[in-house]
Amino acid sequence: MSKRIYLCLAHMSEEGWEQKYIKEAFDTNWVVPLGPNVNAFEKELEMYVGHNKRVVALSSGTAAVHLSLIASGVGPGDEVMVQSFTFCASSHPITYVGATPVFVDSERDTWNMDPELLDKAIQDRINKTGKKPKAIMTVYLYGMPAKIDELMAVAEKYDIPVIEDAAEGFGSKYKGEIVGTRGVFGILSFNGNKLITTSGGGALICPNEEMRNRIMWYATQAREAYPYYQHEAIGYNYRMSNICAGIGRGQMTVVADHLAHHRHIRDMYRDAFRDVEGITFHDELPEMESNFWLNTITLDPKLKVKGEENAYKEAVQGAIGGAAGVVHGGGSIHTDCEPHVNVEAMRLALDAADIESRPLWKPMHLQPVYKNAPAYVNGVSEELFKCGLCLPSGPMVTDDDVKRIIATILENIVR
Ligand SMILES: *Cc1c(COP(=O)(O)O)cnc(C)c1O
Repeated sequence: MSKRIYLCLAHMSEEGWEQKYIKEAFDTNWVVPLGPNVNAFEKELEMYVGHNKRVVALSSGTAAVHLSLIASGVGPGDEVMVQSFTFCASSHPITYVGATPVFVDSERDTWNMDPELLDKAIQDRINKTGKKPKAIMTVYLYGMPAKIDELMAVAEKYDIPVIEDAAEGFGSKYKGEIVGTRGVFGILSFNGNKLITTSGGGALICPNEEMRNRIMWYATQAREAYPYYQHEAIGYNYRMSNICAGIGRGQMTVVADHLAHHRHIRDMYRDAFRDVEGITFHDELPEMESNFWLNTITLDPKLKVKGEENAYKEAVQGAIGGAAGVVHGGGSIHTDCEPHVNVEAMRLALDAADIESRPLWKPMHLQPVYKNAPAYVNGVSEELFKCGLCLPSGPMVTDDDVKRIIATILENIVR
């Protein structure tokens, strides 16, 4: 068997720009969370996203979500409407500021926040609590743009600011525009598994210079302008390191290649699964250009997969996804909501063939930690979670890899 194939591994530029910028940081002794690479990376990001936006580079996408909420005035007792079908970094920071996430389910076309359900949910929150939610957090899951016009129309109807969690959607477009630029804020992530990486890092797309300055201040411990440390508000240590920004500058040279590569892999999967009964490839709508950060399929519950009788027989060792070395005991084999046995059997079959795959993100309204949070659901994200798998899609995945993945999937279907 050849090398293991992962979902989305980091990939550096052929020319080694990342190392060149890191070396420059060492040579000039800018080994701090500010400096020439950070400034240059921010400028390059601003050019990339356009729309006269300002960008602040931060230590993570989660930090960007956190600061966007603070700057939107979200605090204890407030509510934030957030897509349920997401990675926890969209909603966890809502709790950091003492507010309550209100989860909204997805529509079937993009798997992102359902605009009609959002409208109903906001109306219901106003009826129940007597006040408007403080913000709306949209998400572009696996890079897929949402029905942004419809979501913005609902936000405008109630005059609620929108924060776009574009962490998975770097470079994705909606009606020709880069996502993350329609809301007041846009979140970017440069974690190791995202479309481009700074090892760990993120950025906040800000509407103007004033807001950029405010975010910068929050990100550097809210220091006042005195010769000594003077603090009149609580700040955070969230600025990006000059070393990480060096990696980011290098990665900006491969964005176009990565985007083209992810979409090429999309073509291969789409063509392969088009005529396979029981497997649906999740594709974009005509007005969208997804980055296909992760390609995803859903398996019909009636599709039989080899080895279903062995699914969920053994506990998974260690936390899933980017948390290597994390030991957190107490896991049992089942939870009250889990992917169907055919999906788990397919995941195990791929794993045995040295291919990483992963169930779709378990919706936040089904997470025990959020059992008390209000949720407006229509069954879509729960059903997708039970049927779906993410497939290897990153820049290190070759055509031969994709062929091997497709062959392994087809071999494991019981005809
Ligand atoms: C990755 C991600 C983030 C940010 O994560 P960091 O790892 O902190 O950079 C936020 N939201 C979503 C949906 C993500 O997938």
